[in-house]
Order: sequence, then C-alpha cells, then structure tokens
Amino acid sequence: MALQMKIIPVTAFLQNAALLWDDESHEAVLTDTGGEAKLLLAEVDRLQLKLQAIWLTHGHLDHVSGVNDITDQIKLPVFGPHQNDNYWLEALPEVTANYGFPISQPFTPSRWLQEGDELKVGQYLFKVLHIPGHTPGHVVFYNQENKLLIAGDVLFRETVGRTDLPGGNHTDLIQNIQHKLLTLPDDTRILPGHGAMTTIGHEKQYNLFLR
Ligand SMILES: [Zn+2]
Ligand SMILES: [Zn+2]
Repeated sequence: MALQMKIIPVTAFLQNAALLWDDESHEAVLTDTGGEAKLLLAEVDRLQLKLQAIWLTHGHLDHVSGVNDITDQIKLPVFGPHQNDNYWLEALPEVTANYGFPISQPFTPSRWLQEGDELKVGQYLFKVLHIPGHTPGHVVFYNQENKLLIAGDVLFRETVGRTDLPGGNHTDLIQNIQHKLLTLPDDTRILPGHGAMTTIGHEKQYNLFLR
C-alpha cells in the first residue's frame, strides 16, 4: 500500500495537475485542475478511484479554470487556495478571456486554506504551508511520510515563480522558500506547477535564486 501520484499536464501552459490516491482505499484527490476536466475525470474513472476533493495551490487561471467544469458534473469540495488569492478567482472571466482560455466563471472554494491546515487523501496526511510571493494566497501541500511536496508555482527545477503579476512580491517569495521549504529534508520530491520534478537537495545546490 502506498500513496500514488499521476501527473497530468493541462492547458496550453502545460500545468502539472496531479491525481493523488491511496492505493488501499482508492480514495483520490485532484490538485490544480487548470483545465481539461474531461481528461482528468477519465483518468479517475480508468483507475477506478473515488474522487474526494480538489486541492488548489493558487488562483492563477492555468491552475483553477477547470474547477467549475468538474464541480458542475460531480459534487466535490474544493480546498484552497488561501483567501488572499480571492481577487484572482473573482477575475477569472476577464483573465481567461485575455489568455484565450475557455471562459471560466468565478467561484468560491468550499474552504480557504491557511498555514498549518491538514488535508488527507485516504490515510495520507498533507500539511498546508502558506508561501506568498508568486501570489499572496499561494499554498503548497507537504506529505512528510512520503517526502512529497506539491509546490504549485513557488519553486521550479533551478528557478522560482515569477513575481511580476499583480500581487507578486519577490522578497516574500524567497524568504518563505528559505524558511519553510529549504528546511524540509533534502530528499523531499517537489512537483512544481510546470516542468520536471526536482528535490529540495537539488534546489539548495543548484538554484541560483536561493543562494
Ligand atoms: Zn501561477
Ligand atoms: Zn502556473
């Protein structure tokens, strides 16, 4: 028995949505459902999983604009991001139009998240860490037992999230990464919102933004 993960890149931005599940109970969650709801739900069906919730790291369109398409079909709680990203969720109709995405309506999650909250997929516990900087309400999900971090757009392989969009703050981003993420074990695997996986140890050594 184990925690399983399948990465499913969605949208033109190839955002790493993830399907996480407990292979004993078959309970599952989807993270950052940025689009392509059909594809995501087909995977849930194919693996015969019991989808329990959607978890969101932050309010950017490539991470959240598939949420309504899923919750219109299945009654499902949506957890996150932190309330400070509400302005992004409210702006979804304009933002999706500007980027040529299918128009997404604003939504309010079932529950906003904050530092120290705990979420479960089956028997596996994820801690919520609040990492403002890329957006003010950005959260990440950390499972200590399996040394896995779902990092959204905070930390990528050898780079960090952009901070030039409204509400971004580079100093906040770097300080929060230093204090809350680089203190995790070196062999913690990181799933970023885009691109290849990495580890805390690799980023400590090679990420020039964190020197
Ligand atoms: Zn983002
Ligand atoms: Zn993104």
